[in-house]
Amino acid sequence: MSEPISTQGPTATPGPTTASGPAGPADLRARAAQLDAADALAGLRDRFSLPEGVVYLDGNSLGALPAAVADRTADVVTREWGELLIRSWDESAWWTAPERIGDKLAPLVGAAPGQVVVGDSTSVNLFKALVGAARLAQAARPGRTRMLVDAATFPTDGYIAASAARMTGLTVTPVDPSHAGDAMDADTAVVLLNHVDYRTGRLHDLAGLTAAARAAGAVVVWDLCHSAGALPVGLDEHGVDLAVGCTYKYLNGGPGAPAYLYIADRHQAAFDSPLPGWNGHAEPFAMNPGYVPADGARRGRVGTPDILSMLALESALDAWDGVCVEAVRAKSLALTDFFLACVAEYVPPGRVESVTPVRHAHRGSQVSLRTENAREVMAELIARGVVGDFRAPDVLRFGFTPLYVGFADAERAARTLGHIFG
Ligand SMILES: *Cc1c(COP(=O)(O)O)cnc(C)c1O
Repeated sequence: MSEPISTQGPTATPGPTTASGPAGPADLRARAAQLDAADALAGLRDRFSLPEGVVYLDGNSLGALPAAVADRTADVVTREWGELLIRSWDESAWWTAPERIGDKLAPLVGAAPGQVVVGDSTSVNLFKALVGAARLAQAARPGRTRMLVDAATFPTDGYIAASAARMTGLTVTPVDPSHAGDAMDADTAVVLLNHVDYRTGRLHDLAGLTAAARAAGAVVVWDLCHSAGALPVGLDEHGVDLAVGCTYKYLNGGPGAPAYLYIADRHQAAFDSPLPGWNGHAEPFAMNPGYVPADGARRGRVGTPDILSMLALESALDAWDGVCVEAVRAKSLALTDFFLACVAEYVPPGRVESVTPVRHAHRGSQVSLRTENAREVMAELIARGVVGDFRAPDVLRFGFTPLYVGFADAERAARTLGHIFG
């Protein structure tokens, strides 16, 4: 489903090609310097601790460390835990962290307050969302039998979907997300789609597919792992039902940082979590034997939150203060355009092929290049200080995180790749 696109072709916006002909390497370096000088977001890099001399293009797998997190985390450990001990559940506002941090993250995915709760992994939140979605669908329109699942999905989503479907009596039907609308019908209960494909970087039409799902009477769950923090999502604006995402990629929450669950206001009263832990109870400290779900997104909580990771994430999100996601998106597209243009200039013809769509409307914030010996090529890039990653069987992945990656980084990455093939 990924359309191979030659990197030799023109990019969608003016790249380094000038009226006088294609740019040479010297022009590309000069162009990178100009673009960096004109970049209104360039100063945000100072909010991060990055190693000297490394071009980091793997923020779509593990985001960089925001500079303030180390001190904040030390304070949480030594003072809030070490000194205040159990008093911190109240006095340091640990108990309410999942909702508070959900509200802090919400603007980045276009959600009004009260609909996002942070905690657990993406995999666990997918389970809650998919079983919850099936229960919503079966209550509203009994008898429907199908769960449509993005055929190219990140494996954990597919595994969890299969189990959720089995538990709720649905049958999984794999769909090409680009044409998922055609597959939605009066038998569709639930739809699970990825906003951006993790392997190819293809961006799917969240607005159009959500509208199609709602028109078909299905409940749609979006996985935002590769879009949140890289581009506008617009959950409320587009009427999304449920969504999940991780926080350790473009949101820089740290390794294993807790994920999030979005439950649209209109579904909250009926959302029936398959993991009704005591943290999601209306009165957790009443210690009642019977489960009564809390109001709002809080019913998406399960057990005691992982406070150390959670408060590291809270601090990490300060890196977004005053940052407009639309500006991040504009820079992301400019970076990936420029990188593709540099690759076309530096890499000998025929050695790599981009599987990331050229059209902006279909492109996330990464460039995936297919090549022979991709594993070895990526190892060599990393040895030369350009960190991307490899995805089996033959993809080099380069993530462009506009908060801390610049145009000179893109140029150096492409130039280094060219040297490896040279
Ligand atoms: C990164 C990613 C995950 C990660 O799931 P975890 O439970 O956090 O390990 C899941 N789905 C997609 C689409 C991802 O990109």
